[in-house]
Amino acid sequence: MLEALRAIVGDGNVLDATEVAKRSAGVWRPDSLKAAALVRPKTTEEVSQVMRWCHAQNVSVVTQGGLTGLVHGSDAAADQVILSLEHMREIEEINPRQRTATVQAGVVLQVLQEAADVHGLIFPLDLGARGSATIGGNAATNAGGNRVIRYGMTRDMVLGVEVVLADGTILSSLNHLFKNNAGYDLKQLFIGSEGTLGIITRLVLRLREKPMSHNVAFVAVPDFAAMGKLLKHMDRSLGGTLSAFEAMWQSFYRLVTTAPAKGRPPISQDYPYYVLIESLGAERESDTVRFNAALETAMEQALIVDAAISQSDADCHAFWSLRDDVEQVMHGGLPVIFDISLPIDEMERYTENLRDALPAAIGEHKLWIFGHLGDGNLHVIVQVKPQDYFAMRPKIEALVYQPLAAFRGSVSAEHGIGLEKKPYLSVSRSETEIAIMRKIKAALDPKGILNPGKIF
Ligand code: ZN
Repeated sequence: MLEALRAIVGDGNVLDATEVAKRSAGVWRPDSLKAAALVRPKTTEEVSQVMRWCHAQNVSVVTQGGLTGLVHGSDAAADQVILSLEHMREIEEINPRQRTATVQAGVVLQVLQEAADVHGLIFPLDLGARGSATIGGNAATNAGGNRVIRYGMTRDMVLGVEVVLADGTILSSLNHLFKNNAGYDLKQLFIGSEGTLGIITRLVLRLREKPMSHNVAFVAVPDFAAMGKLLKHMDRSLGGTLSAFEAMWQSFYRLVTTAPAKGRPPISQDYPYYVLIESLGAERESDTVRFNAALETAMEQALIVDAAISQSDADCHAFWSLRDDVEQVMHGGLPVIFDISLPIDEMERYTENLRDALPAAIGEHKLWIFGHLGDGNLHVIVQVKPQDYFAMRPKIEALVYQPLAAFRGSVSAEHGIGLEKKPYLSVSRSETEIAIMRKIKAALDPKGILNPGKIF
């Protein structure tokens, strides 16, 4: 195997099992990688040749990007080949008039963000793992992040893809057009397929004009009903410039504003809910006037009871760093992390039921809730003692996932299914939906060699 792979990509671009085991399994992971080999192609053609060989030999292939996923979606086994896109890091073109970027799949998200900025443009996908996550991985998992309310998920930012199929066929669908209704939109099959249908090697992405104004407020909300009203009020008042509406329950706010966290509370820690509200606009002065007026009206209507408003870029950064300081959940125990979706009207009842059910089911624990409320997406984190982790985890999952079925919520708003949520896919997808997914998998990868065992 090593010899055959080296003949395709060169000696230095194939690691054997021993070398693979020296690498970390991921940014959040304590364990190391395992695989029979790790191969690092430099071009789509090389990816194709690797797949042709693996297909002929019935060798399974797991594609890896920045290893920032949270659902074990790119775990490999000892007899499988890891195909890493780390040597496909070229930004091939940025077209400022068409407002597109053409990139290889291994480009790191932050690198593209910075390259777009040079042209007065943005690639609006943004998430905490921006410094490691790759564009190919973002597309393969349809990453969400902090600005979905304004710009959509990765799916909404991809115009075209080049994909290598399981048998090595190159499907080049590098569409540059915003509008192209000529038949099936094949790229959407691969976006969010978690490496099970093909290997994305290149992408054409939609860029946006860079916002010239940036206003952020950190506000306290008296009760949950006010939070839903505040979202509608801000969205209506800001005329399309609302770019984030990030809610935090009190316990999460206290966690990220108390030592050992570096952040300090911009407003009192005694309110039940907090929201980070962001507006990205075009004109500094008038946007600030409008942003502050919208907050004032919200105060008058008692939708907000306290607020800190950014006066500088440093303030904006400080407010965001509180929201992004999710790492604090690693202190003092092991966290079970969820990314559920549900209607905003059901959130209060759902989270209160969960809070009430946990003590009897799992005993001592910590519960933190925050998330992209404007998108109907909550991150629920339950932390238990390390020695209880494996015993408690299934109980926690059942308590979090099962109630979602009643109102057709989702077990994964943005992280994907991977291995972790496989048992719960049927909470959010019907039998018919899963049957069609299996047919598509069988049509594109009849031997089942691409990321086997993931999703279903
Ligand atoms: Zn998130």
